[in-house]
Amino acid sequence: MKTLEQLKQTIMKRNPNDEEFLQAVDEVLQSLSLVLNKHPEFLNEGILERIVEPERQLMFRVPWVDDQGNVQVNRGYRVEFNSALGPYKGGLRFHPSVNISIIKFLGFEQIFKNALTGLAMGGGKGGSDFDPKGKSDQEIMRFCQSFMTELARHIGPDTDVPAGDIGVGAREIGYLFGQYKRIRNAFHGVLTGKGLTWGGSLVRTQATGYGLCYFTEAMLQDHNQSMKGKKIIISGSGNVAIYAAEKAQQLGACVIAMSDSSGYIVDEQGIDLALLKDIKEVRRERIHVYAQEKTNASFHNSGSIWQIACDIALPCATQNELTKEDAQALVNHHVLAVAEGANMPTTPEAIEIFQSNGVLYAPGKASNAGGVATSGLEMAQNAARLSWSFEEVDQRLQQIMQDIYYQVSQTARQYGKEDNLVVGANIAGFLKVAKAMQEQGVV
Ligand code: NDP
Repeated sequence: MKTLEQLKQTIMKRNPNDEEFLQAVDEVLQSLSLVLNKHPEFLNEGILERIVEPERQLMFRVPWVDDQGNVQVNRGYRVEFNSALGPYKGGLRFHPSVNISIIKFLGFEQIFKNALTGLAMGGGKGGSDFDPKGKSDQEIMRFCQSFMTELARHIGPDTDVPAGDIGVGAREIGYLFGQYKRIRNAFHGVLTGKGLTWGGSLVRTQATGYGLCYFTEAMLQDHNQSMKGKKIIISGSGNVAIYAAEKAQQLGACVIAMSDSSGYIVDEQGIDLALLKDIKEVRRERIHVYAQEKTNASFHNSGSIWQIACDIALPCATQNELTKEDAQALVNHHVLAVAEGANMPTTPEAIEIFQSNGVLYAPGKASNAGGVATSGLEMAQNAARLSWSFEEVDQRLQQIMQDIYYQVSQTARQYGKEDNLVVGANIAGFLKVAKAMQEQGVV
């Protein structure tokens, strides 16, 4: 049987170019070395060797015709990573940077995140290198229809249930669902994030951002602090960022800066969220428009948003966006807490700087689990053909996020790593999946 070191060599040999995937695996394996002393069977029974290998990886051609009548070809992906706890579950990302490494890292993280929610969901992820920016509604629709024409044969309400992620919001989920229904001739709850009149759940839109703040508040309260009165910086201005800002404001915090890939805005009086939502969700414009329409605000198209002083940083844009230089600047400004809304937004070197300087640091696989948790609640409502009220779903979300915090922090403590939520999340998530895999035999 392989040692942990031999296993690492095999993983590197099998995935030589998959930088992001190797980064995500390395972090989990580092945490698990603490478990293997007590549980050598996870190595001996090949649990670790199986958990790092997707059950199935799909790559497919997505041809579509643009508004000028030209044929365009993109690449589609779905990685069905692990189904030990339930149907594969995880979002679809449409962004030009998408490749198999990014989809595999996201799918791998999703296994443990979904396990932490306590709901019956396996891990998966998918997407395409299609860039929705600047495309017409008709082009988006034709692309989504072509993408689903292939994907439809691989997914189903008891098999694989995709959702949104970067570049995939309510509009795209609608087009994807319409095409699935047409091909399969069935009205299945096969995607989450659906419209409210056709099977969607209240709070799903807000869930990741709200959940991030519920988690952050639980973490702060455990240290006799709270979000009230704190200065907050949030990167991104998409789904996660906007609803993190909304809940942060409701909890009495002041959000002073947000961004998109073109730069960042600073508004020391506090971001006017109604204006930002109008610019981003309705007009689909770039973030500099905010500073044009709100005179006291400024727009910066160079430099890093993390160089601004704040009490709490919530990275909510994309992977590896917060570097060691950013972390050092935040520490120099006495940041109290950093909680991830995005997946793996903080580089390993930056995490090390936070942890060695006593900053409360929440890894995305725990702190951004609210989105998938509410997707799980959407699946439960679909199965029962019921719709719960906003208050009911919100209350369940809040409870799930608090439970995740306590589960993760207690696990860290049990393994002698007080306040190391990275270790806590990786171990707590892994143990659930590993035990289910043991019980299900070598499959
Ligand atoms: P959106 O597409 O709604 O928003 C993404 C935001 O991040 C946009 O403001 C975008 O700017 C910015 N961004 C994206 N890529 C880059 C980049 N390479 N450099 C700088 N800025 C970038 O996506 P979401 O809000 O849904 O997702 C954000 C993060 O949260 C992702 O990491 C995702 O995996 C994670 N997440 C999302 C969940 C969900 O429920 N939606 C659940 C859990 C995690 P621009 O518009 O200029 O590209």
